[in-house]
Amino acid sequence: MTAELEAPVIPTTIPGVTTLIVYLSVDCSKISSAGKAFRWPRPSQCPNCWGLRLWGHGYVSRYFDGQPKMLWMKRWRCPECAAVHTSRPIEYWRGFWAQAATIYASLRERIENRRWLQELSRQRQEYWWKGFGITQFVRGAHVDVESLLNSHLIVATHSLHYREIRYVEEPPHRIFAFTPPVRAP
Ligand SMILES: [Zn+2]
Repeated sequence: MTAELEAPVIPTTIPGVTTLIVYLSVDCSKISSAGKAFRWPRPSQCPNCWGLRLWGHGYVSRYFDGQPKMLWMKRWRCPECAAVHTSRPIEYWRGFWAQAATIYASLRERIENRRWLQELSRQRQEYWWKGFGITQFVRGAHVDVESLLNSHLIVATHSLHYREIRYVEEPPHRIFAFTPPVRAP
């Protein structure tokens, strides 16, 4: 079992209740120091039904690379569709401890140079690469990683249910401010 598969994602899935992620621009170091006292920005819409009200609904803890302890993520409940959503820093995809930009850098290294990034374990990167293969299988092998990212897909996921990000706020263009590889004419 890889580190990514050990991510505590499943316990927050409530039978019969829709659970999505609310991706928010937040500072992980401030969440770490403030704990449950951290003042989360209130999402403007429900990512399930796009209702305009979300109520606070407790907390769950999550691991993230670079943080020595688990961080409390605020949950939200939609009174319109009864879904319960979990907040998450916008830099981290659902189910992954590494930043999305790190995963992208690993995939790029593999695509361009056919090797893994040295600073990360091979096992984790192989897991991401396999997820990318699944995404390409679903969306078409000819689609490049940048196009998939621009379509707001979690390109490294192995999940069959949660492949697409539904941003309720502005998508994080700055995270994937990548430059396409320059090709000789
Ligand atoms: Zn809703």
